[in-house]
Amino acid sequence: MSDDCLFCKIIAGEIPSDKVYSDDDVYAFHDINPAAPSHILIIPKKHLADVKSADDSDQALLGKLLLKANEIARDQGLEEAGYRYVINTGRDGGQTVYHLHLHIMGGRGMGWPPG
Ligand code: AMP
Ligand code: ZN
Repeated sequence: MSDDCLFCKIIAGEIPSDKVYSDDDVYAFHDINPAAPSHILIIPKKHLADVKSADDSDQALLGKLLLKANEIARDQGLEEAGYRYVINTGRDGGQTVYHLHLHIMGGRGMGWPPG
């Protein structure tokens, strides 16, 4: 828990969120400003500022984040048409919240490369 972190406050229930999934390790909720018809964020409950802050001790946690994202994408009905995962990192990566989060986006064609 980082005291001044928005997503730690969401995990703690101090800031409301539209929960999709929760267990001991990860928490998933709808993005407040969706960029696609289905836009969910999945985060580790452990505070990691960004993906590059992870180390070897986080190997299982990062694996779980992806595997749970797969389950969520399936539960959202995105599997057949496809979906996109995004982890923005740092300023040029467009990161605005410094608690690691994986965007799960689908429900429309998104093209490549992104704008
Ligand atoms: P990023 O730009 O990758 O750091 O993504 C941060 C994401 O968090 C953005 O897509 C925001 O819309 C989303 N976001 C910010 N505040 C909240 C909130 N209180 N609840 C849900 N999503 C949020
Ligand atoms: Zn945090």
